[in-house]
Amino acid sequence: MRKPNLAEYNTFYKVFDWKKEQSGLTGLPGGKGINIAYEAVDRHTEGQLKDSLAIRFIRKDDQREDYSYGMLKDLTAKFANILRKLGLEEGERVFSLLGRVPELYIVALGSLKYKAVFCPLFSVFGPEPILQRLSRGDARILVTNAQFYIHKIKGLLDQLPSLKYVLITDATEDFDDVALSFPKWMERVSKDFEIRPTNLEDPALLHFTSGTTGMPKGALHVHQAVLTHFTTGKYVLDFQKGDVFWCTADPGWVTGTSYGIISPLVNGVSSIIDENEFDGMRWYEILEKEKVNVWYTAPTAIRRLMRMDLVPKERYDLSHLRLVLSVGEPLHAGAVVWGENAFGVPVLDNWWQTETGGIMIANYRSMKVKPGSMGKPLPGVVAAIANIKEEDIIIQDQPDIQGHLVLKKDFPSIFRAYLHEEERYKKCFKGDWYVTGDLAKKDKDGYFWFVGRADDIIKTSGHMVGPFEVESTLMKHPAVAEAAVIGKPEASIGELVKAFVVLKEGYEANEDMELDLIGFARKTMGPAVAPKEIEFVDSLPKTKSGKILRRLLKARELGLPEGDLSTLEKNQ
Ligand code: ATP
Ligand code: MG
Repeated sequence: MRKPNLAEYNTFYKVFDWKKEQSGLTGLPGGKGINIAYEAVDRHTEGQLKDSLAIRFIRKDDQREDYSYGMLKDLTAKFANILRKLGLEEGERVFSLLGRVPELYIVALGSLKYKAVFCPLFSVFGPEPILQRLSRGDARILVTNAQFYIHKIKGLLDQLPSLKYVLITDATEDFDDVALSFPKWMERVSKDFEIRPTNLEDPALLHFTSGTTGMPKGALHVHQAVLTHFTTGKYVLDFQKGDVFWCTADPGWVTGTSYGIISPLVNGVSSIIDENEFDGMRWYEILEKEKVNVWYTAPTAIRRLMRMDLVPKERYDLSHLRLVLSVGEPLHAGAVVWGENAFGVPVLDNWWQTETGGIMIANYRSMKVKPGSMGKPLPGVVAAIANIKEEDIIIQDQPDIQGHLVLKKDFPSIFRAYLHEEERYKKCFKGDWYVTGDLAKKDKDGYFWFVGRADDIIKTSGHMVGPFEVESTLMKHPAVAEAAVIGKPEASIGELVKAFVVLKEGYEANEDMELDLIGFARKTMGPAVAPKEIEFVDSLPKTKSGKILRRLLKARELGLPEGDLSTLEKNQ
């Protein structure tokens, strides 16, 4: 899959076999199964990687803190021993409420070693969403810092009878019998821990979805998901020996675990973790200084970089960079083209969901990129476009037909449950297929094109319009920085297409601009689907994982209740 040759992808796709891929993992000593933490850390310490860099933390003040694979092995074993000492049982849940700090990685991997289920939360959550998730997730242990404990957690303890202990990363002494000092307990326990036999189907991770379309769902994953993390790291992120990798995802989001923690470690490369949130100049400096080879980020970040109006490859030495990848939302063709020019390397969009645990559809370094497309299915994953009518599912073989994006449910990292929502879980499956909730098209070359979420589709004058299509068109206008499109009920045409637009600096929001944009869209897309109304805004409401919350724009537009806003980015 390394040479730019589509035929090679096709051949590889045909012969791909998950079982064969599994032979790239080591398995627990004595044939005792597959454990994510063992594959990510311990197995490497038997060989040359023991002393090589696993994770480098860049603190807010720019201080660097390095962890080798050997150090991670000891620290995660210690955390597993703490769980044992605290009487946790296998399968019980350990939550984290932390920023990008080393403890988060120790807790995640240590929990997996112990065979507890790990669940990260966004650190910006307020008490209500925290309470919701801890109680829905039946948390037994939470790891957080003193500030969060005092301001967000302490007041909730009465309502969380199953929460036995809170470990506090920056407490030098235990506060009381419940709130314990993480460093003190880490000091006390041994660094030897033998991982118990782990079945492929043993539960491992719980991730709440982003809440873009409504109340977040808790998707449960099992240990064999590591096979997807491993494989996608190899073929999509294109990890090579000695690589430096940087994933900017928030640790509270599934990407922060699958690609912020597991995938790079399983593949034995070095990861950079920046404690800071988005900061364009600082990011470019990190890419240069750390000699990053592979960079995984999100469309919202790329759009922000685009707005900075500078060509990084001219100002920074990015000669080590080989690939930029993006996930989370559609990446507009314009952003792909900008990125290729700005970084001088391919910019590869890829698609997946919390439910799929890892990348499912991707552009590959080895393949021609069609800007604006999500690319082709990962070898081992069967993706298709389907028509769905109640219980019937009809796969569409013709190219360029819009329909539901569905996946054959037989890949290792497919979610095994929506926590406490069995009916909802079952409804996602029709026969052998998992229905993703997204709409897409597949072209004659087998590339998939995102159309929109099934919930967001606009029905206007007999047309089905995907917001992405309209947004992409508006983004082609030189004045537009960002756009979000909704359908607004209108008696004669069903729904009217309304766009919320953020203008680039230097452009003025006025009636002329509105007419200009509408005219531009009508000319490009045709009058039936072009927006009829445009509202200029300073920013768009987004989730913490950087997704535009169209449902919130719509609710506000229609004066309806705003719904669950737990994942809303602050100040919106
Ligand atoms: P919720 O399910 O709670 O509404 P969510 O679907 O946004 O939230 P995630 O699992 O974080 O939660 O996001 C997955 C979704 O993000 C996909 O189903 C798709 O709609 C969108 N997405 C992810 N990657 C891409 C991409 N490359 N192109 C287009 N859309 C994408
Ligand atoms: Mg979803």
